[in-house]
Amino acid sequence: MDLSYILNELGEDPEQYFGAISPPITQASNFAFSSVASMRAALADEYAHYLYSRGKNPVADILRQKLAALDGAEDALLFNSGASAIFAAVMPNLQQGDHVVSVAHPYTWAAKLFSDILPRYGITVTYVDGRTVEAFERAILPHTKLIYLESPNSWDFAIQDLAAVAELAKAEGIITVLDNSYCTPLYQQPIALGIDLVLQSATKYLSGHSDTVGGVLSGSKERLAKLFGLDYLAIGSGMTPFHAWLTLRGLRTLPLRLQQTSSTAMQVIHWLKQHPRIEQIWYPLDPSFDQYELASQQMQGAGGLFSLALRKVDRIDIERFVESLQHIRLAVSWGGHESLIIPRCAGIPASEFQPNEINHRMCRIYVGLESADYLIADLEQALNTL
Ligand SMILES: *Cc1c(COP(=O)(O)O)cnc(C)c1O
Repeated sequence: MDLSYILNELGEDPEQYFGAISPPITQASNFAFSSVASMRAALADEYAHYLYSRGKNPVADILRQKLAALDGAEDALLFNSGASAIFAAVMPNLQQGDHVVSVAHPYTWAAKLFSDILPRYGITVTYVDGRTVEAFERAILPHTKLIYLESPNSWDFAIQDLAAVAELAKAEGIITVLDNSYCTPLYQQPIALGIDLVLQSATKYLSGHSDTVGGVLSGSKERLAKLFGLDYLAIGSGMTPFHAWLTLRGLRTLPLRLQQTSSTAMQVIHWLKQHPRIEQIWYPLDPSFDQYELASQQMQGAGGLFSLALRKVDRIDIERFVESLQHIRLAVSWGGHESLIIPRCAGIPASEFQPNEINHRMCRIYVGLESADYLIADLEQALNTL
């Protein structure tokens, strides 16, 4: 399907709402029926009818159709956060005693689900270094039901060979789930590579303005209808009409924003690499990246998120560096209009910081929509304080 058609027309029907170019926020909890027969039909199949906005809502439905089409998936479900999309992709597919294989160091709240919540239900998790398919092969047990992937990782950008892992999982009857927040469907098409369920934090690139939190999960109609019919309605964490509308508004400019952030990130990285204070850069489409070849095959772009390590610094120096930045702001998250930085030492108790550990010296930078010169000047003056 044509990208321009998806972003501008798919799922929209202006005649239903006075010809308005921007669809209205259908701020309604429930929908009325003209007959008991039509009410009965909706109660019997909420997946296909407007009944109550915990399930389906018109403006959310427009967004949902567009996101499914972008993913090349039969359908998608919307959530009020990326974390709830993770939860809904994982929990309903597992039973007591099952086993999960997860890539090492997934997103924080996926990791907490695996290490602190699943054990309550007798579900065990094996973490693997996902850079080789053999690691997955070795970790699979007779009761493995789900393989959880995140490619690239959003700190060190480690990548999994998605087609190869999907093929392995299919042969074993195991469901594959992938967090595609880093690439978005514009830069990586996991469904086409054989992944069963693909999720994203819509908080990041999809909405793109740092003003809403959301998530999306794409897959086959069969899987998602089953999920919707029970767990989705039971968890009750679907995206609300206003947040769907904000995400839809942001989505219209996704290709432009991704292009801009990628090209600026490349320029900033190019400048940083020649700076004597920079020891290492992690960016999947930089030729120095250890999985550059696989990244170039599997991804069509890499967005604005990268990490760097400062050379020969202590925690205090890193803190001075990030606090000296005037325009790149100290905050979690990414994917919005504004450039951000987060030093890994912010998540490490001060007494445990090891200056010799390159991972402790990492800072993750998100390049927003500012100009490269503006950001480089900011980085230069902050590096000069070291
Ligand atoms: C932010 C993020 C999430 C979680 O999304 P929320 O919208 O914050 O719940 C999941 N995965 C990755 C890679 C993320 O960056």
